[in-house]
Amino acid sequence: MSAAACIFCKIIKGDIPSFKLFENDKVFAFLDIQPLSRGHALVIPKFHGAKLTDIPDDDLREILPVAKKIAVASGAENYNVLQNNGRPAHQVVDHVHFHVIPKPNETEGLGIGWPAQATDMDKLKALYEEIKAKI
Ligand code: AMP
Ligand code: ZN
Repeated sequence: MSAAACIFCKIIKGDIPSFKLFENDKVFAFLDIQPLSRGHALVIPKFHGAKLTDIPDDDLREILPVAKKIAVASGAENYNVLQNNGRPAHQVVDHVHFHVIPKPNETEGLGIGWPAQATDMDKLKALYEEIKAKI
């Protein structure tokens, strides 16, 4: 999807309103319109790209300090930082965004399925060698 058609690019430009929490030359942050909990916010690079791997390092570097500011400002003691990539991974908006989601109790905030697989050390080691060789 082009930047011109992107809802988050329109929010950055001010063409669509948002509850803006923070802005600098590389980063924009605003309240999520359908929050999972009080204070649920999104931190996005101004650079348009769908997935984490589409965003230059210089832009990514600026994201986490802003997520930290927002976590502090929300007053949340417990929270998740989440960044989804691709439809099967629950990404709906194709402009990279980091969710900051306060977790005040068991029912509000992010619910996570965590289907841990059985440990196979031989397979794990082979995978480790494969991935390490590409880094
Ligand atoms: P994801 O599933 O990771 O793509 O999450 C997209 C998020 O964007 C959802 O939590 C939506 O509630 C949020 N969202 C979509 N449109 C807007 C909007 N106009 N303003 C604020 N948040 C939005
Ligand atoms: Zn965009």
